[in-house]
Parts: sequence; C-alpha cells; structure tokens
Amino acid sequence: MAHGTHFFMNPGPTNIPDRILRAMDKGAIDFTGAEFRAISDECFAGLKRIFKTRQTVLAYAATGHGAWEAALVNLFSPGDKLLLVESGYFSLNWGMRGEAFGLEVETLQNDWRRPFDPARLEARLRADRGHELKAVLVVHCETSTGVLNPIAELRRAIDAARHPALLLVDTISSLACVDFQTDEWVVDVVVAGSQKGLMLPTGMAFTAVSAKALAASAAAKMPRVYWDWKRLLGEGSQAYWNGTAPVHFFYGLREALRMLEEEGLDSVFARHARLAEATRRAVRAWRANAGPEVYASEPGAQSDSVTAVLVPDGYDADKVRQTCLDKFNVSLGGGLDRLKGRVFRIGHLGDLNEPMLLGTLAAVEMTLDLLRVPHGPGGVAAAMAYLTGRD
Ligand SMILES: *Cc1c(COP(=O)(O)O)cnc(C)c1O
Repeated sequence: MAHGTHFFMNPGPTNIPDRILRAMDKGAIDFTGAEFRAISDECFAGLKRIFKTRQTVLAYAATGHGAWEAALVNLFSPGDKLLLVESGYFSLNWGMRGEAFGLEVETLQNDWRRPFDPARLEARLRADRGHELKAVLVVHCETSTGVLNPIAELRRAIDAARHPALLLVDTISSLACVDFQTDEWVVDVVVAGSQKGLMLPTGMAFTAVSAKALAASAAAKMPRVYWDWKRLLGEGSQAYWNGTAPVHFFYGLREALRMLEEEGLDSVFARHARLAEATRRAVRAWRANAGPEVYASEPGAQSDSVTAVLVPDGYDADKVRQTCLDKFNVSLGGGLDRLKGRVFRIGHLGDLNEPMLLGTLAAVEMTLDLLRVPHGPGGVAAAMAYLTGRD
C-alpha cells in the first residue's frame, strides 16, 4: 500500500493542477448557447497567444494522434510525397500514419541522440528540383529521446532551398514548455495536445493552421469528415463540432490559459529550463563511475520538457522504474521502441516545482543505490546547488 503523495513524473500525461480540476467541476451547459460561445472565444484567443499566431487554431475532441491525422488528411491527396525528419519513436509513428493513408513518406534518417542538421534538409530539398515533396514533417521535442529540434533553423533551410513545401511541426510535448513561434518561424501546421504543457486531462488536441495550409487543404483530395477543417471553421474561428462540444475541456482550458498568463509565458519557459538543467546536473553527477547519462548528447539540443536517462549496459531501465514506483511511489516514463529497457524518462513539464523534482531525483538516486547500478554520488546535491545558484 503506497503512502503519501504519488509523484507522477511521466512526460505525459502530466500533473493536473487543483485549480484546473476545480474549474472543470461544474454542471453541463448548452453547447449551442451564448455562454459556451463566450468561453470558447476566450479560449481560442488565448490559444493563439500560446501558439504565437494570428492565424487559425482548431480544436478536436481527440488525442494528439487525432491532430496528427487531421493534419495529414486535410492537406494531402493519395500518392503525395512527404519528407519526414526522423528523431525517434514519435516521428516514425507520425510518418507511419501517412503511409497508412497512401502517402509516400521519405524518411531522412537520423541518430536519435542528436538534433537534425538543417544543412541536410536544405540539400535534400535542393535536389527536389521538380518540387515533388509537398511537406516536411518534424517533431519539435521528441519525447522518446529528450532531443529538441531547431525549428527556426529548419525553416531557414527550406527557404534557402527556395522550396515551397509546407512545414508541419508536432509540439505535443513542447507547447507551453519551451518557446514556439508559429508565425515568426512560418510554420504551416502546428500539432498540439491537452495533457502535457497545457496541464489538462487527455482528450483534446489542437492544430494551428496557416493561410497557406488552409489554401492547400482546399485542393487536397483525401477523404475526411470528422477532421475536415472546412466543416469545423465558421468565420475566422471554430463554429462547429462533429457532435457535442467538449464543454468541460473548455472550462479547464480557460483556467490553464489564465494560469499560464498569470505566471507569464517567459517565466513558464524559464521555470522549465531551470528544472530541466537541475535534472541534467544530477544525471551528470551520476555519470561518474560509468553510471547513467543523458541520452540527448548535444548540450544545445536537450529538451526542457523531458530527460531520457540511458542506463549502463547490462542494467535494465524498466527495473529502475519499477523499483522507484514500488519503493518510493514515484512514476517515471519508460523507453519506447528500440530504447525499451535502455532508458527511463523523467518528465519535468507542466505543473511542477523544485521540491517535486528534488524528491524525484532523490528517489532515483536511492533506486540506483538499491539496485547497485554503477553511478557517481551527489546527483541530488548537484541539482540543489544549481537551483540555489551556488553552482
Ligand atoms: C505524447 C506525444 C504524442 C502522442 O500524443 P497522444 O495525445 O498520446 O496521442 C505525439 N507526439 C509527441 C511528441 C508526444 O510527446
């Protein structure tokens, strides 16, 4: 029987603040009435500030997988060619969905420990003289590896190649955690979900859509009904739901947006950066004695949302997770796909503060001791010294 607070430190879903839970604790209202319309207008206006766009934002009652699919079926016709930037499990999963719809997906392979080199994207697009590639698909924060891709630089690579491909970016684990500038970086479709940086329950997903993408969707021949942007859009903002609008999500979303704006987006990003760096300092201390290491190997491309920790060869990351949960009631994320058993993942995104992170790091350090996984001492102390500015 577990006692005390369950520390839920997976990189999604994330902790739901009490303020959001209380905001959702309400009776139903008419989703066709003026009261709901006012709430949804406030939410879409707030979402545009979070996405940093003046263009269109659409919402779906769905997981992030739904928004992935919405982007594909609204923009393309069967046989269209897409370029997928590989980063890890989530990137490959998105591409696989394109193939299931009869799209031709070319994967630019990449080392999962490193961000994608914009020069390689530029070279591939320059070679596409006939402009057969309709879009570039990239995951911003690859949640399976903890690597952050350089979206502004990848945009510049597309421009340098003078290629008209649309740029589609998955920000499911980065939106409202690290800066993302939809309009400034000229991103055509941004995919996001409710249960990570936005701190909501799972079940709502979003796409920000540029005018160029909306124009492309008018010519796209893929069949679509539930996801159809034209159906959902009224004049400028979403007027239609395929069925009942998810009113309670909007109560929660309104509160989440208020919380983010009360803290200030820049302060939200700074908090994520601080907690992420404290996590990395702890892992670097553990790295001594041939211990665990941060999987993302380039310091400038380590995500502030999640840290994947590679355990030494011959040790089982899932055993670390299980022991941490059984002994200390701390839940960590597991390795996905080829990283199963090789990494555990510490989610440091969403509603989180220093004591929650330090408690987690202490539980991990004790687990490494208990399981006799080789590691250096003092990970928690290194994180504390960083957080108090002594180091
Ligand atoms: C969590 C996540 C997804 C999947 O989101 P769901 O809501 O579970 O469908 C996709 N991409 C990234 C980068 C994620 O972190």
